[in-house]
Amino acid sequence: MAKVGFIGLGNMGGHMANNLLKAGHSMKAFDLMQDALDRAVANGATAAKSASDAGRDVDVVITMLPAGKHVRSVYAEPGGIIEVAAPGTLLIDSSTIDVQSARDVSAAAAKKGLDMVDAPVSGGVGGAQAGTLTFMVGGSQDAFNRAKPFLDIMGKNIFYAGGPGNGQAAKICNNMLLGIGMIGTSEAFNLAEKLGLDAKTFFDISSTASGQCWSMTSYCPAPGPVPTSPANNDYKPGFAVDMMLKDLRLAKEAAESVGAETPLGHDSEALYGKLSASGHGGLDFSGIIKMLAGKL
Ligand code: NAD
Repeated sequence: MAKVGFIGLGNMGGHMANNLLKAGHSMKAFDLMQDALDRAVANGATAAKSASDAGRDVDVVITMLPAGKHVRSVYAEPGGIIEVAAPGTLLIDSSTIDVQSARDVSAAAAKKGLDMVDAPVSGGVGGAQAGTLTFMVGGSQDAFNRAKPFLDIMGKNIFYAGGPGNGQAAKICNNMLLGIGMIGTSEAFNLAEKLGLDAKTFFDISSTASGQCWSMTSYCPAPGPVPTSPANNDYKPGFAVDMMLKDLRLAKEAAESVGAETPLGHDSEALYGKLSASGHGGLDFSGIIKMLAGKL
């Protein structure tokens, strides 16, 4: 069994840490929020005094933090994990962050001879709790092989995406497509309704025709056709508008950095930004159908 340092015990990290503890690993845990740290200690972790302290004398460090600036600070600032970690410590960052921060921090780790992977997830809080997350992993093949046994405990599908930063690239490209797909699906259901076609009839036809996509068949934004979709539960998340907006901003930033044309990604970011600015950032992202119908 390994000694794990776990930093960032929020909505996702708290459950992920708990699954590692349940599997029998020992853990030094840290979060800036005392109640999050208390929960991890109640589940069997030892409280570290700081993020750096959690990175000392452990076999593997796992971070689940809000954004790139937190990841840079925890790993790469003077006195940070890269400086204090023992030789051979494996570093796994599962936060969703910008590709450049992931590549910069990985390069700083490599300079010290430390293996690091970026391993963002999809699957949400439910997947974190159930240990069924999907991990998209960037880093060397060796680092991936070392990380996989830990990721297997927290997730179900573990994909190797290539070199450093490629896990983040896979994550934001997927979520950009999801954001665009949800808007397209919403527009189609709204237009169908105005033309006198009810949602169920349109769903039955389009879900077996060429308009079929995940946003329609698994997460339909119109109430009715897919009983488990948030549309049937007042658009409670699920995956909140503000989370989608974060990922669309990361995609835009990445596209600009490499000169890629992503006009629909750009428009999607503007539309989700409008929904968030009108006070609906906590709604499930499929709730954009209501804004597009002029009902929000
Ligand atoms: P969260 O805000 O609930 O948790 C983040 C935690 O990090 C907080 O408890 C915060 O106190 C802690 N933290 C911040 N800076 C710190 C520092 N310097 N040292 C120690 N702790 C620090 O967020 P979350 O929902 O758990 O998401 C974490 C990451 O996972 C984000 O990058 C998010 O985009 C990504 N993600 C979230 C979901 C989801 O459904 N929530 C799904 C996929 C990916």
